Amino acid sequence: MTARLVLATHNAHKVGELRAILAPVLPGLDPESVVGARDLGAPEPVEDGVTFIENALIKARALAAFTGLPAVADDSGLSVDVLGGAPGIFSARWAGTHGDDAANLALLLAQLADIAEPHRSARFVCAAALVTPDGFEHVETGTLEGVLATEPRGAGGFGYDPILVPTGETRSCAELTPQEKNAISHRGTAFRALVPTLVRVLGG
Ligand code: IMP
Repeated sequence: MTARLVLATHNAHKVGELRAILAPVLPGLDPESVVGARDLGAPEPVEDGVTFIENALIKARALAAFTGLPAVADDSGLSVDVLGGAPGIFSARWAGTHGDDAANLALLLAQLADIAEPHRSARFVCAAALVTPDGFEHVETGTLEGVLATEPRGAGGFGYDPILVPTGETRSCAELTPQEKNAISHRGTAFRALVPTLVRVLGG
């Protein structure tokens, strides 16, 4: 397989995670051919969907149209039960500024300050979309269930990783190795589910 695949994300950390997730399951795919939207100079579309699936499709459609290549996008976030599923699609800009991970995390911890452990359940959610220039579309989803810690722990990962402790783990996602996180993560699950369709579309 020599096809190129473009990723509709401007988040360099996600590009790294996706390369690591896809490389072992798509051995014919050159990791260098997996490039992020920013490197391609692609404009960021308005994400005006109200679900992870809608926003993933918006990003993948825009990049497939811009590049003329099969495009993959993810939309993801944290869903906290006691907050009725919030921050949800607003995860990246919960504290007001898009992508301010530290402020988002601090605000969420403050909001949950009085909530005891049994009520701190949450999950990361990911929708992974594949769109081709001729209009084929396919979406898979994945979740990572866990409990929110009361203070950040660990230096790995990004976003809310320092406070999500996956079910059955004692460490936060930021204390897992990248391999450990990818093996159980919402993004890993969604993209591995997308692989058979990717292989078909890329002609592997
Ligand atoms: P997106 O780039 O629109 O999908 O926004 C994703 C936001 O959700 C990020 O900015 C993070 O705040 C959060 N998020 C998504 N996936 C993860 C993850 O794997 N770890 C930590 N936070 C995540």
